[in-house]
Amino acid sequence: MGTNQKSVDAFKKAVEVMPGGVNSPVRAFRSVGMDPIFMEQGKGSQITDIDGNEYIDYVLSWGPLILGHADDRVVTKLKEVTEKGTSFGAPTEVENELAQLVIDRVPSIEMLRMVNSGTEATMSALRLARGYTGKNKILKFEGNYHGHGDSLLIKAGSGVATLGLPDSPGVPESTAQHTITVPYNDLESLRYAFEQYGDDIAAVIVEPVSGNMGVVPPQGEFLQQLRNITTDHGSLLVFDEVMTGFRVGYHCAQGHFNVTPDLTCLGKVIGGGLPVGAYGGKREIMEKIAPTGDIYQAGTLSGNPLAMTAGLETLKAMTKEEYQSINEKIDRLVEGYQRAAEKYDVNIQINRAGSMLGIFFADEPVVNYETANNSDLEAFATYYRTMVAEGIFLPPSQFEGIFLSTAHTDEDIDKTIQAVDQAFAAIAKS
Ligand code: PMP
Repeated sequence: MGTNQKSVDAFKKAVEVMPGGVNSPVRAFRSVGMDPIFMEQGKGSQITDIDGNEYIDYVLSWGPLILGHADDRVVTKLKEVTEKGTSFGAPTEVENELAQLVIDRVPSIEMLRMVNSGTEATMSALRLARGYTGKNKILKFEGNYHGHGDSLLIKAGSGVATLGLPDSPGVPESTAQHTITVPYNDLESLRYAFEQYGDDIAAVIVEPVSGNMGVVPPQGEFLQQLRNITTDHGSLLVFDEVMTGFRVGYHCAQGHFNVTPDLTCLGKVIGGGLPVGAYGGKREIMEKIAPTGDIYQAGTLSGNPLAMTAGLETLKAMTKEEYQSINEKIDRLVEGYQRAAEKYDVNIQINRAGSMLGIFFADEPVVNYETANNSDLEAFATYYRTMVAEGIFLPPSQFEGIFLSTAHTDEDIDKTIQAVDQAFAAIAKS
């Protein structure tokens, strides 16, 4: 890596005008002891910062860019659509097209509503679940992150975990008391919670593969048991597939694990890099939303043509073969990590579900938030700083996964594996 003076200067300005100099806390790089790198442009798997340093990008805007940066198909269509006007506040045909494609691919979705972010999707899905069931409580899992809606900012993952802020000030006690949290992959605690509060649980919301405490897949029958217990108690099962949706595989996590929720939240990949979220599910439930029903939810820019177009072009390009090819690249990457770990005697745990991949610097298997927290954060920071210096851009937190795109090449993977070798050598020395 060359100089980073322009990033340093830009950050000085940024901290004067934005809290922490960023518009989302995970961009602050605090947990790895660095300042943010300001980006200028991206193409395919490559991203270039404002000082001209180039990186292979495994952040991909935190997941959405599954085709890589500035994919020609997406950019060409976006230019065409932009010329015709960016938003109408009236329906457009591209909304039908994207909705139909999502319905065709996601087993549980018969109808959906587009929103502008993952946070909006989960907040709206929970309002719908409460309105539909007439119940108050929400059950979520420790270390799962579902955006920053008040009911969901309790023992959350992602930046909340990275910064160690488990329960945010500003969430009223009267709201927090309706959120029950239990450890991920812990069916006994789940059953106990249902014994205590079962009559009043409107919904269980879960990341079907957890991606916000690092990647933690569901163990054994976990998801199926969630399905059974919610059905037995008249609660809705909500899969938050904002991260897993069209990332884990062609039919999302629910197709991969063959468990069908009542409601599904989407985001990231369905917007192809523009701001989109969505929630959908059974027709009978979805028709309770205004204007067919009386549960209110709206959005000035929801379903706007630019975002719909980017999402549509992205999903059309993501054939089953493309998922297969991403999986093969992940296979090679995983082998590289394993080789380096053996060579330098570095303890790592590799967690994987379809195209979701997470590496923990830990001795024991990582199955929930507690075990994720046993990771060696110093080792992670050394690894991270070495990888950046070698031109590999990764999410700057132990509690995030690694994202690959169809644009990553075999040479990218080779280069990354070489950098991992150097990073693990640095850990072994420290
Ligand atoms: N749910 C999950 C599983 C997520 O990973 C995220 C974002 N990382 C969200 C919800 C919130 O999405 P957004 O940041 O678009 O509001």
